[in-house]
Amino acid sequence: MKYDNKLFAEHLQGMVKIPTVSSADPEKTRVDDFKALHAYLETAYPLIHKHLTKEVIGKAALLFHWKGTGKSKNLPLLLMAHQDVVPEGDLSAWKYPPFEGHIDEEGILWGRGTTDCKNVMQAELDAVEMLLAEGYTPDCDIYLAFGYNEEIMGGPGAACQIITDELKNRGIQFGMVIDEGAGVSEKNGVPVATICTCEKGYADHEFYVDDKGGHAAMPPEHNALGKLGHAMWVLEENPMPLKLCQPVIDMMKAQAEFTEGRLGELFKDPEANWDELKEICAKTPSLNTLVRTTTTPTMAKGSDQANILPEHASIITNSRLLPGDTLEDLMAHFKAVLPDYVGVRLVKGHNAPTISVTDSVGYRLLCKITEDMHPGVKFVPTMVFGGTDSRYYCDLTPTKSVYRYSAGTASPRSGGAHQVNEHIDTATLASAVEFFVRLCQEYGAAE
Ligand SMILES: [Zn+2]
Repeated sequence: MKYDNKLFAEHLQGMVKIPTVSSADPEKTRVDDFKALHAYLETAYPLIHKHLTKEVIGKAALLFHWKGTGKSKNLPLLLMAHQDVVPEGDLSAWKYPPFEGHIDEEGILWGRGTTDCKNVMQAELDAVEMLLAEGYTPDCDIYLAFGYNEEIMGGPGAACQIITDELKNRGIQFGMVIDEGAGVSEKNGVPVATICTCEKGYADHEFYVDDKGGHAAMPPEHNALGKLGHAMWVLEENPMPLKLCQPVIDMMKAQAEFTEGRLGELFKDPEANWDELKEICAKTPSLNTLVRTTTTPTMAKGSDQANILPEHASIITNSRLLPGDTLEDLMAHFKAVLPDYVGVRLVKGHNAPTISVTDSVGYRLLCKITEDMHPGVKFVPTMVFGGTDSRYYCDLTPTKSVYRYSAGTASPRSGGAHQVNEHIDTATLASAVEFFVRLCQEYGAAE
């Protein structure tokens, strides 16, 4: 097959030009922008629209079904990504406008969604389009699903909840699911493939204190907001306990050889070295999040005016739950450590989804293809700190084979997800397309 980077860059550029921005308020989803994206996909991928069944589910989710020959005994393969992007942030800080799709003289494509994750949608669609151009039919059914509100953690009206409810009604299950994630990067000259096998859970809580209020010129010793501030300090001083879960143990062991100094030594056997390791983890935010359920206050509200004492003060916290810790565990922890004048309620949240396995047909296939494309590659299974839409599909995947793996070659010249100046090195686009081509070709026969 001939992989045409220029064409892939044009396709990604076309998608980036359409501002499919998520809105925290589901009522404000700009459905017309998503429709414009759908219309663009029709022109960019005519064969997909000719040969696959397409459905629009919910407000703007896309579900494509590619019927296989039925020769394979494997459950269907699902390729995922999300159509939505985060807002552009500070417009004046962008080198090139975020929705212009500018490609500079070095082949860097600038814009919102270039790495998170219209690039994944583009790679999956180009792979299928190329296979169709060759007259290829897979031996196994293949689905493509693209949600539209991943960036607001789904929330009420989560696109993927609507899609998975529908698929469940139809009795459809998957043998493997691939969603956005990391790819293959270089560490000390060795290619390293990072495959995310699990993700943390998520929770927003509201903490509140009710008080008499009154004139700010005659305050009590501690008012509602002051008490709440103290409660947050207590919460920070008393986090959930540190613990090791299996995916993190696997990750540390795999990373030991790329990790310098004492930490590299400790990673070789995290369980045996836990006493020393946990001291280091607790002091390092990037390690701390791997070994405990975190909670941090992010939003606060007092009275509406500077000279009025708050009658009701509230603070929103954001928590990320380790696999194994539940929302109930977290609530019990809050109640145990907080002063009793503080109220707390769950705003929204979910437990961490099922941990995927590394001894499955699907995982072996990911490794085989990656190895062929990057000889000598090392594999690091890991955990996503944030969340992805793939969690919704875990219940539909009895093989426990939901992987967050974008598969393309990661370039040091790409970056900026969720920041200003998001950009991608277009030289890397072909590697992701090639990966998905091979995945579609080989999945049916994998065992
Ligand atoms: Zn994303």
